[in-house]
Amino acid sequence: FLCVASHRSEELLKSRVDLHLHTTMSDGRLSPTELVTLCAERGLRQIAITDHDSLEGLPEAQAAAAELGIDVISGVELGADETGGEVHLLGYFVEADDPELSSILAGFREGRTTRGRRIVERLAELDVHVSWGRVLELSDGGAVGRPHIAQAMVEKGYVQYPKEAFDQYLGRSGPAYVGRERLTPAEGVAALVKNGAVPVMAHPTYYMSGDGPEEVARLTETLAGLQQVGLAGMEVHYGDYTTRQVEMLASVASELGLIQCGGSDYHASGNPDETEPGKVGPPPEVIGALQDVRGRLLGQGEA
Ligand code: AMP
Ligand code: ZN
Ligand code: FE
Ligand code: FE
Repeated sequence: FLCVASHRSEELLKSRVDLHLHTTMSDGRLSPTELVTLCAERGLRQIAITDHDSLEGLPEAQAAAAELGIDVISGVELGADETGGEVHLLGYFVEADDPELSSILAGFREGRTTRGRRIVERLAELDVHVSWGRVLELSDGGAVGRPHIAQAMVEKGYVQYPKEAFDQYLGRSGPAYVGRERLTPAEGVAALVKNGAVPVMAHPTYYMSGDGPEEVARLTETLAGLQQVGLAGMEVHYGDYTTRQVEMLASVASELGLIQCGGSDYHASGNPDETEPGKVGPPPEVIGALQDVRGRLLGQGEA
């Protein structure tokens, strides 16, 4: 077995844990069953389903996981906004039977629909014509996201890949960008804690412009503030992060005592070079660390 060098290096890259994955219940393109099946086939043992603003894929994912003998952690991803930038929050071990969180998420999904329609109108003004009906069809009853609009643009031949639609039109500084109502990061953390979910900051570099010392300090300060309201971890092993980025984030996490999480953020997006499930992920011990926090949150709830 020593002779297959390329195979060995691929194995070294691979993680058995992936804590950031999307399904058709938001902007992923695989159903919960398809995604869990793919993860099982790829040799993953423990995964988290983290759809944007939706818990609706969790029962199906759990059922598929039980069938295939892998663990699915119930998760969610919330987008939050602050003057300093955008913060995405992952919540792990989320309690799906929670009317309060469910109603917050339903409100966000409604806001996504309104905003999606406005983006389509703005695109039309830019002479890019996609039909709103098609966007709704692509979102298939799940939380509407810009990737659905990007996909409709690919279908119409305006761009070759969804990513180009973001680069040219839909990105935060693009001509068709429309924002939506969101919680502040602190409110997002609080909403997750109230549910009993363990809050983790997703892809922290989204919040940064560059990786200079001022930006690292600004991120550290924001993380420390959120830690006060219950943030327990941050993604360190993520998507296409370079070794340098991973080292920078690991050092911030270890300075603050935050759990070092991560995953692929796989969407089956159709973009070239998309990070596939299990290509990156945290070591399995993080699950125990997240469970410990979950136990403490539940204990506080009972007290
Ligand atoms: P939304 O939830 O509608 O704000 O869209 C955000 C989603 O779009 C993210 O979760 C990614 O799936 C995707 N996305 C964001 N930025 C880009 C980009 N530059 N290229 C491709 N996909 C992106
Ligand atoms: Zn997404
Ligand atoms: Fe995100
Ligand atoms: Fe995500």
